[in-house]
Amino acid sequence: MSADAARRLGAGRLVIATHNAGKLKEISALLGPYGVTCLSAGALGLPEPAETGRSFAENALIKARAAAEASGLAALADDSGLSVAALDGRPGVYTADWAERQWFEGPPGRDWYMAMGKVEGMLAERGPDVDRSAAFHCALALAWPDGDYAIYEGTCAGRLTWPPRGTLGFGYDPVFVPQGRTETFAEIAPEEKHAISHRAAAFAKLVAAQFAG
Ligand code: IMP
Repeated sequence: MSADAARRLGAGRLVIATHNAGKLKEISALLGPYGVTCLSAGALGLPEPAETGRSFAENALIKARAAAEASGLAALADDSGLSVAALDGRPGVYTADWAERQWFEGPPGRDWYMAMGKVEGMLAERGPDVDRSAAFHCALALAWPDGDYAIYEGTCAGRLTWPPRGTLGFGYDPVFVPQGRTETFAEIAPEEKHAISHRAAAFAKLVAAQFAG
């Protein structure tokens, strides 16, 4: 954890270690009210480090540290994915990789339907009574150029359904039913999903630690 737990971000410039415009927009909206001006690592021309960590937190920290060191500013990164209980937590940090097409599967790129199908195929092999519980995880890493850092993690528990349902959201949303609901994430309005998601839980912890009081 952080060498100095009392360290706070405060108002000012923060590099968001992402090349994804959607993520930058969402994070800017969340932190704007606290006087934080978000700059994207992509727009600053910062390189994207390889995500070689074995956990979401390790990968988020790799990205945040690389951006903080290269920019000389505080940086925030997130890493997220799906863990399936019956698959020993897979796909985990490889959640996005499972959607990557192999040469024999079609043109290069990501195919989420194929990725959901892989997960379902592995569950089906385990029989009709397989445990279908799963959880989305999100780790947020905040890093300062001097090496100090803090990590905030959020989880959204649920279960996997098949076939996929719904057209909203992204990634594995059409097969994930959050706990206490019957609809998939892809059938739940974005504002509602953003209130109960793993990312919302991690951001609530970050905001409480960095800006509350
Ligand atoms: P990354 O954190 O950008 O590397 O994303 C990891 C992958 O996890 C994404 O590409 C999605 O497939 C999956 N993922 C993360 N959060 C969600 C979510 O809220 N819904 C569906 N899939 C998600």
